[in-house]
Amino acid sequence: MPTIESQLNVRIMRKAEATMHPFTDHFKGFENVGAVRQIFGEETEEVLRNLKVEFSGRNGYMGVSDDDGHLMVSACYLNNGDIVDIYLDIVHELVHVKQFMDGKELFDRDYDYAERPTEIEAYRHVVEEARRLGLDDDRIREYLRTEWMSDEDLTLLAKIVGVKCKRVKEKANHR
Ligand SMILES: [Zn+2]
Repeated sequence: MPTIESQLNVRIMRKAEATMHPFTDHFKGFENVGAVRQIFGEETEEVLRNLKVEFSGRNGYMGVSDDDGHLMVSACYLNNGDIVDIYLDIVHELVHVKQFMDGKELFDRDYDYAERPTEIEAYRHVVEEARRLGLDDDRIREYLRTEWMSDEDLTLLAKIVGVKCKRVKEKANHR
C-alpha cells in the first residue's frame, strides 16, 4: 500500500530560514538609554550588538523567542505604530531578553499574562521609563492596553505596576 506521503504530487522545499537582522540596524542609540543600561549593565553594548531581530508580516506588536532569545517584531507595527509605544515596547522586550539570558521561563503558563512574574518585571521597568519621559497615568494605562487583555486584566496589571486607574464611570460623566 502506498503511503499517504507518496501520494502527494508536490514538492515542498523545506530549507526556509527566518530572516534575521541585526537589532542595531533598526534600533539605534538604545545602548545609551539609562533604562537599557540598567538591564544589561556593562554588557549593554555587547548584548545589543549580538541581538537579532526578526520581522513578521503578521499583526501584533513584538515579543522575544523562547528558543533563542531573539526579538520578533511585527513589520506593520514598526512601520505604523506610535513611536513612543514602540520605544517603550523595545525597553519592555529587552527585559525579556535579559530574563532569557538568565534562564528564566518567559511564558510560564502557571500564571495569567497580567500576573506572570516575567511580565510584571518588564512592565514595572517600562512604567518607570514612561514616567521619566513625562507620560501621565492615563497615557501609560493606554499604553498598557492590548486587544487580548480584558478590562479586568488591564485594571489588575495597572494596579500591580502602580498606575492609577480612572474609573469607567468617571470617564462616561465627562463626555
Ligand atoms: Zn512582555
